[in-house]
Amino acid sequence: MPQTRIIDGRALAAQLQADIARQVDRLPHQPGLAVILVGDNPASEIYVKRKVAACRKTGIASFVHPLPAVTTKDEVATLIDALNMRPDIHGILLQLPLPAHLNPTELIQHIAPAKDVDGLTITNIGRLMAEDPEGLVPCTPQGVMTLLTSLAPDQSLAGKLAVVIGRSMLCGRPMGQLLLQQNCTVIQAHSHTRNLAALCAQADILVAAAGSPGLVQSDWIKPGAIVIDVGINRLADGTLMGDVAHGAADGQAAAVTPVPGGVGPMTVACLMRNTLLAATRLARR
Ligand code: NAD
Repeated sequence: MPQTRIIDGRALAAQLQADIARQVDRLPHQPGLAVILVGDNPASEIYVKRKVAACRKTGIASFVHPLPAVTTKDEVATLIDALNMRPDIHGILLQLPLPAHLNPTELIQHIAPAKDVDGLTITNIGRLMAEDPEGLVPCTPQGVMTLLTSLAPDQSLAGKLAVVIGRSMLCGRPMGQLLLQQNCTVIQAHSHTRNLAALCAQADILVAAAGSPGLVQSDWIKPGAIVIDVGINRLADGTLMGDVAHGAADGQAAAVTPVPGGVGPMTVACLMRNTLLAATRLARR
């Protein structure tokens, strides 16, 4: 059985963060990231802690704004407006999911596009579609592209068949765009896709971002494919599982990202990269 490489997202993220820390050190002003956390979702609290820890490692100032679950949309919007005006804050992130009474799409539009380090405003989505380099690219798909490039830095992805499972604005949709920009042939699969297993089995690059634990089985994976598991699913026993079934990629894929320790750390590192980029651009204005 051929050996499947386990892609070490933690190691690559640590390298990326060390490089960002060096760049931050050379800046005349310290970059600042504001994180708005509404409610008390335990998973969100863990993610915010990781982001704050990454800020500390890279020399970025972090400002966490915890708000009670009953906060109104006007109160969140007022806070975002105030953060937009602050010169010491270069990145603003609204931690998702929000409590049910708050509409994330509506609130995200309040973030100044130049500070939208999650890349989720309509402006930054448009820039991604237009391949405008002035945009800010969503962190998870950006992290996946960095992982893919690191596997074979000199090799083009052009002509590869990429199947992306999922079409959310956060993960699947921008993922498909970024792969398309690298001249992959992209199949954007979702919950209405027919014959998903057969489509996946043709993929040179398979990105699973469905949020469905163990969805991808061994016979969905083309021998020699690269499998990127974006899914982070918490099981009833508290353990984490990706969208790829345990062991499904072993001996089948050329490489696979583990969960945890694959895409997750790269997402956080790319958030630091976007904050540095935003700070550098805002200083030039
Ligand atoms: P989402 O629920 O917004 O979107 C899921 C998408 O997958 C939808 O487009 C849906 O159509 C599709 N889908 C769901 N079940 C499917 C199935 N059985 N077959 C085909 N398509 C299916 O979720 P999201 O925010 O895009 O997140 C997806 C997963 O990625 C979650 O597990 C989430 O926790 C994880 N995630 C990981 C990171 C990271 O840094 N690794 C970051 C964000 C999200």
